[in-house]
Amino acid sequence: MTPKGQTTLPKPAPRQFDPDVLAREIVERLTYRIGKDATAAQPHDWLHAVILAIRDRVIDAWIDSTHKTYEEQGRRVYYLSLEFLIGRLMRDAASNMEMLDDMQAALAKLGVEIDLIAALEPDAALGNGGLGRLAACFMESMATVDVPAYGYGIRYVNGMFRQEISDGWQVELPETWLAHGNPWEFERREASYEIGFGGLVDPAEGEDSGPHQMHWNPTERVIATPYDTPIAGWRGKRINTLRLWTAQPIDPILLDKFNAGDHLGALAESNRAEALTRVLYPADSSSAGQELRLRQEYFFSSASLQDIVRRHLQYFGSILTLPDKAAIQLNDTHPAVAVAELMRILLDDHGLDFDEAWDITRRTFSYTNHTLLPEALESWPVPLFERLLPRHMQIVYAVNSRLLAEARRAGGFDDQAIGTISLIDEGGERRVRMGNLAFAGSYSINGVSALHTDLMKETVFADLHRLYPTRINNKTNGVTFRRWLMQCNHGLFELIREAIGDRFMDDAEALRDLDPFATDSAFQEKFLAVKRANKVALSNLLRQRVNARIDPAALYDIQIKRIHEYKRQLLNLVETVSLYDQIRSHPEKDWAPRVKLFGGKAASSYHNAKLIIKLAGDVARVVNHDPAVQGLLKVQFVPNYNVSMAEVMIPAADLSEQISTAGMEASGTGNMKFAVNGALTIGTLDGANVEMRDHVGGDNIIIFGLTAQEVNGKRANGYVPADVIGQSKELRQALNAIASGVFSPDDPDRYKGLIDGIQTHDWFMVAADFDSYSAAQRRVDTLWADQSLWAQKAIYNVARMGWFSSDRTIREYATQIWKVL
Ligand SMILES: *Cc1c(COP(=O)(O)O)cnc(C)c1O
Repeated sequence: MTPKGQTTLPKPAPRQFDPDVLAREIVERLTYRIGKDATAAQPHDWLHAVILAIRDRVIDAWIDSTHKTYEEQGRRVYYLSLEFLIGRLMRDAASNMEMLDDMQAALAKLGVEIDLIAALEPDAALGNGGLGRLAACFMESMATVDVPAYGYGIRYVNGMFRQEISDGWQVELPETWLAHGNPWEFERREASYEIGFGGLVDPAEGEDSGPHQMHWNPTERVIATPYDTPIAGWRGKRINTLRLWTAQPIDPILLDKFNAGDHLGALAESNRAEALTRVLYPADSSSAGQELRLRQEYFFSSASLQDIVRRHLQYFGSILTLPDKAAIQLNDTHPAVAVAELMRILLDDHGLDFDEAWDITRRTFSYTNHTLLPEALESWPVPLFERLLPRHMQIVYAVNSRLLAEARRAGGFDDQAIGTISLIDEGGERRVRMGNLAFAGSYSINGVSALHTDLMKETVFADLHRLYPTRINNKTNGVTFRRWLMQCNHGLFELIREAIGDRFMDDAEALRDLDPFATDSAFQEKFLAVKRANKVALSNLLRQRVNARIDPAALYDIQIKRIHEYKRQLLNLVETVSLYDQIRSHPEKDWAPRVKLFGGKAASSYHNAKLIIKLAGDVARVVNHDPAVQGLLKVQFVPNYNVSMAEVMIPAADLSEQISTAGMEASGTGNMKFAVNGALTIGTLDGANVEMRDHVGGDNIIIFGLTAQEVNGKRANGYVPADVIGQSKELRQALNAIASGVFSPDDPDRYKGLIDGIQTHDWFMVAADFDSYSAAQRRVDTLWADQSLWAQKAIYNVARMGWFSSDRTIREYATQIWKVL
């Protein structure tokens, strides 16, 4: 490997852009690429022209990065993820290329308001939530810390659905992010691959075929064609590639059928192929279990593997060196079938013997686990897997027999332990366990917070961990501070710069220099003024979007994330009802005026999650119309939570709700975004909240509730929710009010089932944690009354969250797992 800095390429020019030159470039793009002049241009045309101007600068640096990677001959990282929740790219790219201010000035010269056109860019929402957003933060951080990396995923025509609220209920509408075209992407037809499904497997013929070599003859084939998007790192340091696959038919139209008059049949194959990459499965933290989903997983895994192997052979010649030159990271089990696909390529296409192939595979893959929830652990019925991927089924069996033999040889594994290690779940309908396959095929298995990694060792992978005790490691998640502080919170960004200079822009941990300012009353006031301005901005947006009026003087208490029972929006709502009740009973008390904001999408098939959205709307209607709590309590559900909405809501938050049942949230990343934007966290000791407490200090975070261990203990020892409910008058009243229809007079039984769940089993510990949560909220009220102390704690949060930059996370992956830095 050539030492860094010794490349023969010229150093990039210093980044300075003359607004006049930029303005000329924009008009040129408008004229020659879009075909309009400035007088005829619509706002969308301006947006397109600006993106093209930024993109051209990015491309120069992209080509440099590609050259540099080739010259260095080092190991490359391949990040395989079924989701990339990247959001808008214009501001991100312009800011990372250090041309945002000049671009704004250039546009001003042209009489165009940058914020106006920026808002027209659609969110690339190719993901559900945290997992997909993590992949997006990682892409930006890998480019920033100079890791040569490719992201591989699917170019869904319809990404995450757009959520509308109609009569309080969630309605799902298709998001058409590609409607105006996508100026960021480049189609690369020359890098297309054929992907097969179904058919039969025969022993390979020919003299030099190995004993393990087989010939798979699929009955169905589609073409995978990539679209490349450049991802710019901070200060344009490196530009990496996000390569997203789209499915196309081999024959766009079957002319013989068409000519015979079968016009629909002539297009059937084409439609079938294109359906493969049409939609993102809108399920989060649960496995869809549908055949199309398995097809998507294999389609993108196979295309990515073929591409990686093709590139490797082109540059390095021998397949045997693959593990030295390629580190493939599996983002959850969605791409786990890639383990079997690489084995197939090594055995059948390259004639390697089984042990050699397995050795290469196990030195190439690493796997990130994102959840311990049983319903989210992917497994496929053996008959389905076998029908769709007959060769891969053989490989899974062959790997499994070696794996189980290894466990038996190692000793200390009884039949039950062997059963949990097996790649095949034999309890009931036989299923292929994708988590076990990913584990067996990887040299590193990581969790995403310290607590989650510990629990992983004790639960799902306990026996595999005993067999391979060095593989599991922790990589606590992070978020990119460029997007989640510098761009989304310009006021705070400037205030920090004014106080401590620029160093934190390159090293998030330098935010620590802000620590002494936490007790500085002049700084506190400026901090509160910035927060206030952000709250005014959110208030204006909500007035415009949903005609809500929220007072910027109130405490903004925000819970935004996917709607899920384990995330406990229901606990927040029950406490809201209880607070409402208490304010009405004791209007004389000194209540802190609060605005409670909720946002998030429910999986389309998740009944209780949809009911929770409806409940938020029902509670909002009653509370907001009651003059008794006017000015003290307001509730609002904000529709269509996505990255762009997060970028407005998070900077405006005073209080961040991170209240999952302990042991159930693997990490969370929303929690980190809020804290670095100066919100105080009210949360359980779950996921990364535990490490956040360690960093910001126990005095600067509001922790409540059962620990993961206590939750486990309760569940194991016959916890009776009725006992807890019997002892808490406030909880009882709130539950009864909801269950009896106080908030749903049109359908009094609407929430009976939901509340019944709390009263009978309370799996998510809503009743068990209620009193502790409610008491914590009253401590929040008290603290709010002392604005100086509040600001102090909030500033400590900003100052001490630097460790949660995804740059730190990526450096850990790069040095400890990928060995590329
Ligand atoms: C950060 C983020 C998430 C993850 O939020 P959690 O609170 O960690 O679940 C989900 N969706 C969007 C749009 C995000 O930006």
